[in-house]
Amino acid sequence: MTQNKRRLDGMTTTPAIDTDAVDATERLRGVGLRVTDSRRAVVDALGHRPHACAEELFELVARAVPGTSLQSVYNALGDFVDAGLVRRIEPAGRPGLFELRVDDNHHHLVCSECGAVVDVDCVVGDAPCLTPSDTHGFVVHAAEVTFWGVCARCDSATRRASAVAASGSA
Ligand SMILES: [Zn+2]
Ligand SMILES: [Zn+2]
Repeated sequence: MTQNKRRLDGMTTTPAIDTDAVDATERLRGVGLRVTDSRRAVVDALGHRPHACAEELFELVARAVPGTSLQSVYNALGDFVDAGLVRRIEPAGRPGLFELRVDDNHHHLVCSECGAVVDVDCVVGDAPCLTPSDTHGFVVHAAEVTFWGVCARCDSATRRASAVAASGSA
């Protein structure tokens, strides 16, 4: 228990993947996937853009490996998810979003205005962090929480806009 607590404290200071530490080749080999230029480029893109959708990643990958198709990015992401290299999250109304941060049971804050996605460390650390009132006989492995709200930037933009409106009508 003490060990979990310590691990969690350490995680709170590292909100995003350290992109320098992302060695795409190592990661691919680590899960037994064949290393190709486009796969490596997809992993690199994910290191720079956590919670990106396939189209956003494709833009980065196509710059690094010209001639890569959107379909091949989709295929790579599918292989990565199956291999446990990448986690896919699907906030309602958004395309699937991908990230390299797997297996730590973290949750997400999603801005309903601009769509910004931010990692939130699970307060418990261990999956599942929530206990259903009735499991109906299920063996529960994980709980995913999406906190919906308005990010600080959108919130201050809204405040500014309403302040301007108020002073304009006075
Ligand atoms: Zn926002
Ligand atoms: Zn995340």
